[in-house]
Amino acid sequence: MQHMAAKIIDGKALAAQVRATLKPAVEALAARGARPGLAAVVVGDNPASHIYLRNKVRACEETGVRSELHELPADVAEAAVLERIAALNGDARVHGILVQLPLPRGVNAERVLAAVSPAKDVDGFHAHNLGLLLRGTPRFVPCTPAGIMRLLEHAAVPLAGRHAVVIGRSSIVGKPLALLLLQNDATVTICHSKTAHLAALARQADVLVAAAGEPRLVGADMVKPGACVVDVGIHRGGDGKLVGDVDAAAVAQRAGWITPVPGGVGPMTVAMLVANTVRATELAIGQTAR
Ligand code: NAP
Repeated sequence: MQHMAAKIIDGKALAAQVRATLKPAVEALAARGARPGLAAVVVGDNPASHIYLRNKVRACEETGVRSELHELPADVAEAAVLERIAALNGDARVHGILVQLPLPRGVNAERVLAAVSPAKDVDGFHAHNLGLLLRGTPRFVPCTPAGIMRLLEHAAVPLAGRHAVVIGRSSIVGKPLALLLLQNDATVTICHSKTAHLAALARQADVLVAAAGEPRLVGADMVKPGACVVDVGIHRGGDGKLVGDVDAAAVAQRAGWITPVPGGVGPMTVAMLVANTVRATELAIGQTAR
């Protein structure tokens, strides 16, 4: 029997919708003298980092959020990076600070991320914010997992009592996403490079998230018919086109839902950064609810 093709969850459209709903909140804050401001710190000249930052700055501009780019040379001393972050922590016009990863060798990412004030940590990477998430009272949720949850919610993918399998255990994607799925009553399995029987586990998933950083790792044989497949990977193929961690053409014939690459998780990640910056501003001026 021929399976109907999967529903494509359009992250680009949803991200535009999220940005549109943020705009009035931004203007309301600006009217109170607190236009949201985001400072992005980038060290070195990693081309991918600069592309990501350009997208983030553009999304800020579109929603009326003020953004400033702090570019530091690859050979900068760690102390100078820490000094810059301390200055941004103390700058009342800056409500959100992001440090674009990866950092060059010689600059310790853990120390740098720990230096960002938890109240301005709009990437949600500070141990304090990760701890709040673990406890079930999140303040800033890391943007990619937050964006994935919005995509699932938008597509009305059932989570309660369902089996979610997350491939990848990074602190940026896999681990925080697993916590969010758990908080939404899914039964969660986290897989990684040492996992035995990955394909068999993946086939059990009602929701399968591929965040391994390996092009086309997930083929149709790893997907349960009707499952929701979320593709987090971003890779530039030999032909210059972007591909994900999922063999999308094959999986779309079997899955119930799939997020495309590009146009799935990527734009939602950026939209969530803007949302977190707006939230940071609201918290800074003592406005708790909209
Ligand atoms: P990461 O830090 O490299 O983590 C990758 C994880 O996948 C690790 O836990 C690793 O296991 C696991 N893994 C790698 N190969 C595997 C395999 N063959 N089978 C099972 N597990 C495997 O990467 P990340 O930062 O989480 O990012 C993952 C991917 O998402 C990358 O392609 C990245 O470009 C993309 N990404 C996209 C967005 C977006 O906005 N769309 C945002 C962030 C990241 P071990 O822990 O055992 O090494």
